[in-house]
Amino acid sequence: MAEYEEMTPNSAKLFARSSQLHVNGVSHNIRFFEPYPFVCRKAGRTGLEDVDGNRYTDYWMGHWSLILGHAPAPVVSALRNQIDTGWMYGTVNEQTIRLSEVISGAVPVAEKIRYTASGTEAVAYAVRLARAHTKRRVIAKIDGGWHGYGSDMLKAVNWPYNLAESHGLVGDEMVISIPYNDAEESLGILAQHRDDLAGVIIEPVLGNTATPADADYLRSIQEFAHGNGSLFMLDEIVTGFRLRFGCMYEGMKLDPDIVTLGKIIGGGLAVGAFCGHDEIMKMASASGAKPHGAYVGGGTFSANPASMAAGYATLSELKSNGMAYQRLEKMGDAARKGLRKAFGEMAKVTGTGSLFMVHFVKDGTDHILGGADASRCDTSLLRRYHFKMIAEDRIFFLPGKMGAISAAHTRQEIEDVVRASAEFADQM
Ligand code: PLP
Repeated sequence: MAEYEEMTPNSAKLFARSSQLHVNGVSHNIRFFEPYPFVCRKAGRTGLEDVDGNRYTDYWMGHWSLILGHAPAPVVSALRNQIDTGWMYGTVNEQTIRLSEVISGAVPVAEKIRYTASGTEAVAYAVRLARAHTKRRVIAKIDGGWHGYGSDMLKAVNWPYNLAESHGLVGDEMVISIPYNDAEESLGILAQHRDDLAGVIIEPVLGNTATPADADYLRSIQEFAHGNGSLFMLDEIVTGFRLRFGCMYEGMKLDPDIVTLGKIIGGGLAVGAFCGHDEIMKMASASGAKPHGAYVGGGTFSANPASMAAGYATLSELKSNGMAYQRLEKMGDAARKGLRKAFGEMAKVTGTGSLFMVHFVKDGTDHILGGADASRCDTSLLRRYHFKMIAEDRIFFLPGKMGAISAAHTRQEIEDVVRASAEFADQM
């Protein structure tokens, strides 16, 4: 802590100013950490630089949105061009059409797409669509699943999953939760709500724990949903274009009704999207008499040409580099293997592809299948580990969150994480 305070005096001063103006000093709760988060002034490739001139190798990577690293050349050039020709039209634009052609070519369910300015919004509209389509009310989510701060989905995020996350939610009894990767228990809960079950929404990799869903588990939930006339929705806001060129569901041979996307498809600029088969998405058509089928946005900034151009440049780069995902996966494997060796029995390492996370196990926990297992781990030790890396090794994970490798990261940088982790294991 003393070392961190010594190296970040300008951040301390600026954060004090920030705290006068913003609740907790931040504009997203997870961005705060003790004693104060450093204040960033620029970023490039794999690095974040703070206002004191410290450079950190970044594994938070803009909430995992920056798969090519910070300020990659193709996106910089697309954005420069966009700045010269205006960045906010508020009208239909070709940039959106080009991006959608790429997405629908890679994501078969995306017969129709609607953009938003954030993932939270995309999920909110997907939920409304499911309720409108089925004329039912209940949405099932996963214990520990995160779908943004929207009022509908702010339930069963943190352990224990039966307490409200917030005051101010209305009708939250219409959202139920099921345990990840536990088909028997999940199907039992869904069956109790079958008559009013509008849909189920699941992240194929639980972002809170970096745990991939078991394909058989997802298939059994999908089968139940389809048999019951409920929508099977996958939230691929993190996994879309992160693990393959397209969505994770295809590799798992699933057939979702709606998929939500975000992060990578905007190349690090504000974005969200929900997409699905024509037959379901046509509910969102605003033509005809009121009430409309499922009256949903966008908004002022949806499909703005800057986000669309940055997304198109990012996806084009990923598509043209046939080895990109293979390389990312290899780097992820190396990170997971190295961390397992560094921590031995002390921790479990989860993740897939370029995503990874360490869990300091206790109380005999020997596997991390979902949020309940992760909640039994020592999360304060995880934050200490991440903080040690910030202060001593200049390696940045948002404390407590999974790491994401980008195409800009090098083998050496991964080895540095492993070395710093082995040091932490020794210190402990
Ligand atoms: N869904 C998932 C799986 C996410 O990880 C997130 C954000 O991290 C969201 C939805 C919300 O997206 P946004 O933060 O863009 O509103």
